Amino acid sequence: MKHGAGMIVGARRRERDSLSRVTQDERPTGALVHLRGVQRRYAMGSGEVAALDGIDLELAPGAELAVVGPSGCGKSTLLNLISAVDVVDAGRIEVCGVDLTCASERELVALRRREIGVVFQAFHLVPNLTARENVALPLALDGVRDDARVDELLERVGLAARAAHYPAQLSGGEQQRVSVARAVVHRPRLLVADEPTGNLDSKSGARVLELIAELRRDAGAALVMATHDREIAAAMRERLHMRDGRILEREGA
Ligand code: ADP
Repeated sequence: MKHGAGMIVGARRRERDSLSRVTQDERPTGALVHLRGVQRRYAMGSGEVAALDGIDLELAPGAELAVVGPSGCGKSTLLNLISAVDVVDAGRIEVCGVDLTCASERELVALRRREIGVVFQAFHLVPNLTARENVALPLALDGVRDDARVDELLERVGLAARAAHYPAQLSGGEQQRVSVARAVVHRPRLLVADEPTGNLDSKSGARVLELIAELRRDAGAALVMATHDREIAAAMRERLHMRDGRILEREGA
């Protein structure tokens, strides 16, 4: 049993190495995220709505980008595409060297599990797992066990004493701190956050943002965060202003 698990982990490491090699070879611009002419349309009544309408975007490793704009302008749609959970209708998207428009399901799963971490507005913790098990989940899904890393993160987010609690026994702010730890536990190169403070009071929200910034820096990951909050956006290095599925302006840096 033990032997078998070790072999699986070994095979996964080799797969990861080959994923990184592809990344270096296929990223001549050095961009971590690369979108060209991206469109995403949804059926609406007898017609369709263009949630994204011709997006060109480049994101360097370690970048810090706030995505801002009125409700319905396409922020979540953009983040879902970058997180490799949704697919484009037209155009090209490459994340960590993987061309999402022609990647196999196996490559997409590997990419999501190893290179990307996501923080959602509604936390999305697994209700029947403890805080500790939720943080360990991305590693467990990849056949990896790293108790020291999980403990370190629970400590960093101030929840070591609540590690055995279930999500329903935690406040909103605490749940979001668990989800931030879960998003970085596997040291992703890309951290995606969709309105991470949208369900929190301002004090809990501020703590969550501090943790996102701190843990992102430690991991050396790029951060893309959708927010309605002008102050939060202003504190980030760059801002992408969107309207009606298009980019109006990118400023900062
Ligand atoms: P934002 O995150 O900026 O509020 P969204 O990306 O959620 O914007 O939505 C962009 C547009 O796409 C909106 O007009 C929205 O109604 C539409 N849309 C998003 N998801 C769906 C869906 N699953 N089905 C139909 N329309 C959708």
